[in-house]
Amino acid sequence: MTNIENKLVQVATCRLENVADGLKDLLSILSLSRSQTGSGDTADPMSQAGTFNNPIDMGPTVSKEESYAFLNYIKLLEWKPTPEAENKRVFLFALLKIAHKWGCASAMRYAAKEIDSLDGIRPFDKLQLSLSYGVPQWIDRYIPYFIQTPIYKYSDNDKTLLKNSPFLYSLIAEAQIAISNERRQIAIGVPPLHEGAPSCRYYGINHKSSLCNRAWNEGWWNFSKELLRPYPFETRLEDAWSILQEFEFRGVTKACRDEALDVVEESKEFDGEKELIREVCSKVRAELPMGPLTIS
Ligand SMILES: [Zn+2]
Repeated sequence: MTNIENKLVQVATCRLENVADGLKDLLSILSLSRSQTGSGDTADPMSQAGTFNNPIDMGPTVSKEESYAFLNYIKLLEWKPTPEAENKRVFLFALLKIAHKWGCASAMRYAAKEIDSLDGIRPFDKLQLSLSYGVPQWIDRYIPYFIQTPIYKYSDNDKTLLKNSPFLYSLIAEAQIAISNERRQIAIGVPPLHEGAPSCRYYGINHKSSLCNRAWNEGWWNFSKELLRPYPFETRLEDAWSILQEFEFRGVTKACRDEALDVVEESKEFDGEKELIREVCSKVRAELPMGPLTIS
């Protein structure tokens, strides 16, 4: 028996316990607490949590529709076809909420998968749901998008939602600044050719003032502009290596170009952005509320 908005709804508690681990734990804690405080006779089945005398209270934050979405999912109410369009969105959001509250992993996975298949659900909606109910896969999928999209390109709704999550906002803003700095460092840190490659026609201590070296410096700057333009994330840093390989360094001898590109490849400096995004994802995942999908 559950109490939903002051209305008692009769459901088979054993069925609920079978599908929702969190609820099973809650029921055993409620029964234990009653037996310890002596407020009920545990030998009397009517005094057990979830019975007519002692219904499970869904609390003020859960609406009747939300509860029914979950009870429908586990087929404890009269079967109804899955709702369509906007109703389906409302149904799935409610199912995710209650499934999280009662620790039902299968319902959470179902709701998350179905939400993924719906049109018009914005990345930030999923991030918001993830922060509320703990859906780790959406963190890994959408945090990169928000970090790699300049904040001025966010929609007004997205900005509002971001303001409601100061933790996320500060992580995203800090990551964008760090990535921007990293790109500037790459742009100004022209890999030095030193004396040049031995087979370069300018090889030697004077290579620094050679046409080859000057062309390399100029070519690097032209390449770097791709990383900085417009500001700051038109090109993903992880794609920079393939851009660099195709880039034409006019006036640089092939030997010097090949040698310099080998040095750049070994430095793995273009991997920094991916690494930073991974760190942010892991920080956000660590803050997710505990639930079936975050502890399994
Ligand atoms: Zn050279």
